[in-house]
Amino acid sequence: MRSIGFAGAGFACAVLARQLVTRGAYRATVFESRDHIAGNCHTSRDNGIMVHRYGPHIFNTSREEVWDYVRDLSPMMPFTNRVKAVTARGVFSLPINLLTINQFFGKRFSPEDARAFVATLGDTSIGEPQNFEEQALKFLGRDLYRNFFYGYTRKQWGVEPTELPASILRRLPVRFNYDDNYYNHTFQGIPRDGYTSIVEKLLDHPRIEVRLGEPFARDLQSEFDHVFYSGPLDGYFEHRHGRLQYRSLVFERFDESGDYQGNPVINYCEEQVPYTRITEHKHFAPWEDHAGTICFREYSKATEPGDTPYYPMRLQEDKEQTVAVPRACRTDTRTDLHRSAGDVSIPGHARRDR
Ligand SMILES: Cc1cc2nc3c(=O)[nH]c(=O)nc-3n(C[C@H](O)[C@H](O)[C@H](O)COP(=O)(O)OP(=O)(O)OC[C@H]3O[C@@H](n4cnc5c(N)ncnc54)[C@H](O)[C@@H]3O)c2cc1C
Repeated sequence: MRSIGFAGAGFACAVLARQLVTRGAYRATVFESRDHIAGNCHTSRDNGIMVHRYGPHIFNTSREEVWDYVRDLSPMMPFTNRVKAVTARGVFSLPINLLTINQFFGKRFSPEDARAFVATLGDTSIGEPQNFEEQALKFLGRDLYRNFFYGYTRKQWGVEPTELPASILRRLPVRFNYDDNYYNHTFQGIPRDGYTSIVEKLLDHPRIEVRLGEPFARDLQSEFDHVFYSGPLDGYFEHRHGRLQYRSLVFERFDESGDYQGNPVINYCEEQVPYTRITEHKHFAPWEDHAGTICFREYSKATEPGDTPYYPMRLQEDKEQTVAVPRACRTDTRTDLHRSAGDVSIPGHARRDR
């Protein structure tokens, strides 16, 4: 029987471990630094309310086999993420859609009118956009950019939008209809009993051993025939190839009664508001009824020692450092690195495929 080590008890390693032990002669040992399973998707009940401890998670995919797989593990409750944005000019619907455009500019545009109008807003002096700001100005113009993107991006990434790659923003991050579904994927939902119960089921197997509170270190590698690693990429190489820059998050909890904000997620786009969004967790389970409510203000910050690295920044200098990693991987054939350093999204604005 082959012995496989896993670094991390999040979704990635839990699925891999389960698949391997049920399909072959494998034994799995799952190391997890934290004192719980399910990684960043971890959920737990607090005063009866399902709380997403590391920020809200909405399951979304266009792959039917993935959707079927997760539905075998848990009933998936219908949920469509509809985000609102507080700007200097009022509260609007995100992603920018026909309602946002009509309300922001005080118009009654049809889809075609709006498309033609937005085309007139763009900065035509910009050829191939060289950074995030140019991408936004080229396609949306100054008004929409300043109100919806500039302050939020500065808070989220801690740098000027001119320092971020243009690729972070979709080519035209606008919809010319009234679809305010945050995601483009075919399937979307929230597990009725939270994500932790799914990961619990995945890891519940006589040939899977879970070691909570035990970080995987590279010197353990020799004990296994193969290792899957789902932690930060630079951490695996003990920062020998440099440090990648990540953003970390701080969640400031507050409790209220009734309905605090009337929506699961509200983004705050103005730079002078220090947080990026407020999430109200009972609204991620609209099929439940709770008198109290638990909310989190979410702040973004540079990752310091001891912080959880959530979002890789993918600045030019990070990209130069990651060039060294594939070379290092070639000499390290016993380990699979799950996490891609280039997997960047701006929560709230850019890629909506997460
Ligand atoms: C705020 C936020 C919101 C998100 N929202 C969504 C969403 O709505 N929908 C969506 O699809 N995705 C979302 N994501 C992404 C989602 O969290 C990840 O895709 C998913 O958690 C990845 O699972 P994973 O197992 O790869 O990694 P993780 O969930 O990060 O789990 C990795 C685990 O490995 C552990 N670990 C790391 N290094 C070691 C080590 N050396 N030894 C032992 N353990 C180690 C960590 O403690 C962690 O528990 C969001 C992410 C964030 C940060």
